[in-house]
Amino acid sequence: MDHAYAYRELRARMREAARLGSIRNLLDWDMQTVMPAAGQGFRAEQAGFLAGEIHRRVADPAVGELLDAVEEAYSDPGDLSPQAANTRHWRRAFDRASRVPEELQTAIAKAGAAGQAVWARARGQNDWGLFAPSMEEMVGLKRQEADALDYADEPYDALLDEFEPGLTTRKLEAVFPQLARELPPIVRQALELSTGTPAVLDRILPAERIEAFAVLTARTIGYDFQAGRLDFSAHPFSMEIGPGDVRITTRIEPDGLSSALFATIHETGHALYSAGLPTEHWGEPAGQALSTALHESQSRLWENHVGRSTGFWRHFHPLLLETIPELAGVSLQSLLHAVNAVRPGFIRVEADEASYNLHVLLRFELERALFRGEVGVRDLPGAWNERTRQLLGNPPPDDARGVLQDVHWSMGYFGYFPTYTLGNLYAAQLFETARTAFPDMEERFSRGDFSFLLSWLRDTIHSQGARFDGADLIERVTGRPCGADSFLEHLRDKYLGGSFS
Ligand code: ZN
Repeated sequence: MDHAYAYRELRARMREAARLGSIRNLLDWDMQTVMPAAGQGFRAEQAGFLAGEIHRRVADPAVGELLDAVEEAYSDPGDLSPQAANTRHWRRAFDRASRVPEELQTAIAKAGAAGQAVWARARGQNDWGLFAPSMEEMVGLKRQEADALDYADEPYDALLDEFEPGLTTRKLEAVFPQLARELPPIVRQALELSTGTPAVLDRILPAERIEAFAVLTARTIGYDFQAGRLDFSAHPFSMEIGPGDVRITTRIEPDGLSSALFATIHETGHALYSAGLPTEHWGEPAGQALSTALHESQSRLWENHVGRSTGFWRHFHPLLLETIPELAGVSLQSLLHAVNAVRPGFIRVEADEASYNLHVLLRFELERALFRGEVGVRDLPGAWNERTRQLLGNPPPDDARGVLQDVHWSMGYFGYFPTYTLGNLYAAQLFETARTAFPDMEERFSRGDFSFLLSWLRDTIHSQGARFDGADLIERVTGRPCGADSFLEHLRDKYLGGSFS
């Protein structure tokens, strides 16, 4: 088969699958924002139908033949063309879809749906024993999946690769031990130096004013409301529907200015990335964001490095008081204290920027031990509590606020948590590089100028699609392999350098 013909044919098929995927995204957005509750059953039917149609296209044996023909032309690992990247990712998707037997895929989907319901009950009743059988089943199924997919060193590698192409346990072991050593003392010192946790951001405020301020920040940092919209959902998310349509949601509660604001900035960061992907490659890996960690780096960069910076608040402090007059009299300094407060606790999703990665580290170590067979499902609560005590100072008061707090394991998401920390590390390394490129960055932020940073991210990251794996792109842009140094430096600078103590 002529490779040029095979490439065109393959691209046409994959774009068709991508169009179906974008329709599924739209249905999903609708379900999470405005769909009436009674529509749930039929929506599940629609989603199942689309998933089947997509799978049929991606796993079609004819795709395997086309790939064989295309790979003859694009097999050179040094080939950096979009065609080579597309071929590599199409092969990966085809292998994933075709190597795992359909019965196993169905079993995982069913166990995930059932497991989520059992998990919710078990958490409500603070009863690990109730959830343990579901967890045993899921771990067994995911181990079978890993075996079907093949892996470099250990089964867990196959699960990591699902969320982050190219990621392995060994690569994580190059950064996590450093975080385990150096983070806990930073968190402790930051707490000691902290002058308490100012509650200005916990005040009861009118929801529509919180919304107005959230919209103002999203717009100011570059979100285009002509090509997107902000809605409300239980869990904030961003959703790429297609070119010209990338949506975000947030959650607004009367005492939740901080969570609404930072969720909005976080999702805006994701959306800016999606909106900056090269449209000429839409529906191909070269036009997609396939690295979960890289995606997270974009949200974290805007949320933590920009949104908690002094320059950002110099600009937004007067606008905040103008938009929400209830906050009259709140000083810039107390705002900066409030948005940067360190409050280590037991719950990952409530953790501050400094202690957050300790929560991820804990999950990574336990997942690795589980899939190595070093710890059993029954022993997880004990292992969880002991490691929490070592990393965060105290064990959780109960399993509901400990080993049962996250939904992910019930759905079979093993290997997903580490991408959160990688995203934080990527963000810090990128931001450090940007600061070298723009030494007057803080000054520009305080004038309300964020466009230079967005343009830089568009050039270096967004426009690259999935041409490079996450870690490779970070290394190309920052000039050195991804590590924990920039992140730890950022924290030391902020918390121990005197700015917030
Ligand atoms: Zn995110």
